[in-house]
Amino acid sequence: MKQSVCILGATGSIGQSTLKVLEKNSNKYSIFAVTAYSRMHDLVDICKKFLPKIAVVPEEKKDELYQLLKLNRLETIEILTDEDGLTTVASHNDVDVVMAAIVGAAGLIPTLAAVKAGKRVLLANKEALVMSGDIMMQEAKKNSALLLPVDSEHNAIFQCLPENYMSVENNNNEPKLGISRVLLTASGGPFLNTPLAELATVTPSQACKHPNWSMGQKVSIDSATLMNKGLELIEACHLFAISERFVTVVVHPQSIIHSMVQYIDGSTIAQMGNPDMCTPIAHALAWPKRIDAGVSALDLFVNNKLDFQAPDTKKFPALRLARESMQAGGLAPAILNAANEIAVDAFLKDKISFTNISNVVEETLNSLENAQANSLEVILDTDQCARNIAQTYVTKMGK
Ligand code: NAD
Ligand code: MG
Repeated sequence: MKQSVCILGATGSIGQSTLKVLEKNSNKYSIFAVTAYSRMHDLVDICKKFLPKIAVVPEEKKDELYQLLKLNRLETIEILTDEDGLTTVASHNDVDVVMAAIVGAAGLIPTLAAVKAGKRVLLANKEALVMSGDIMMQEAKKNSALLLPVDSEHNAIFQCLPENYMSVENNNNEPKLGISRVLLTASGGPFLNTPLAELATVTPSQACKHPNWSMGQKVSIDSATLMNKGLELIEACHLFAISERFVTVVVHPQSIIHSMVQYIDGSTIAQMGNPDMCTPIAHALAWPKRIDAGVSALDLFVNNKLDFQAPDTKKFPALRLARESMQAGGLAPAILNAANEIAVDAFLKDKISFTNISNVVEETLNSLENAQANSLEVILDTDQCARNIAQTYVTKMGK
């Protein structure tokens, strides 16, 4: 029997890589549903090639999609809309695997719906876990969902952990099973060697030019500020039930080692590979088996230099803010994430400078009272509140 897959965010960078892996393994997987927020022509190309049963788009795109599908004699593909449509496909009885690849907070509700329905959930949408941490992990356990990391670092950590790691209880967030530390690698982004004094004037297009990975705009900017590593630090703490005290960020500019796990006997286990998201996607799709990802094997005679350094949190305060938010716990990570989404959007629209992205986040964190993140409603309310406050700082700071 083929596994039936739903791709949330099919037109994005992770969505496209997922489609590549699925195409290579079409004897094992079929595509039940795809979703997109914009770019209806791209979505129709996907529909032509993969013939899903359902496509989900915003209500205002429904007519455009219908006309395009009709033009291609694909009007039998059902169109659903908005958040209801997303949660319907993410939790659909006919779906085995959900790729959570919507960017930002918009992915939270549908990803949580997949988790609550007990699916195999391939998690790319790190913002969803950063916002809802404990709730998402508890729902996964309660509903026997298999939450597998697609983020390359977390997928690497998962591959370096003992096989039974996820099933062993850990209530105190101390390392278990002989593990002493997790080493989360970071490329350092496009401004690793840019002097601090020049950061205020960098442009969105410079910030989007990642040295090793080709990604969506938001995660590219997050990589440039190192907020991506901050969000990933929080993601790692939740996924692997480990305190941030045991997670060290290591800058490794070549992105060949995707992260490491250290053990009490002095061993450090690393997962390596060419920087291509098809590898972690294929791993999470097939785990515990392996499938062909279409990625060439690593050539260590070509990639023969691996460098490491500590991150500069003076130059990249976003990483410090994320660590402090994780230490504070409660709603702080959700506030951090919401403010960051607003600030990144403002930077992309040329409304604030690059260095003001983390200033907006810091001011927003300082403006809001922290509290327990004990319900989804509280998290969503706080997300909205943090967005409003961040927006006022965007206006105040300007460029
Ligand atoms: P992207 O911008 O390329 O694609 C985002 C997808 O989400 C698109 O299909 C878009 O239509 C959809 N979308 C956007 N806004 C939406 C909304 N409001 N409602 C519903 N759908 C919406 O992003 P990406 O680079 O593919 O990243 C997706 C997620 O994966 C992010 O959370 C990112 O941090 C994570 N991630 C990406 C990479 C990478 O290499 N691109 C690596 C690791 C993790
Ligand atoms: Mg990553």
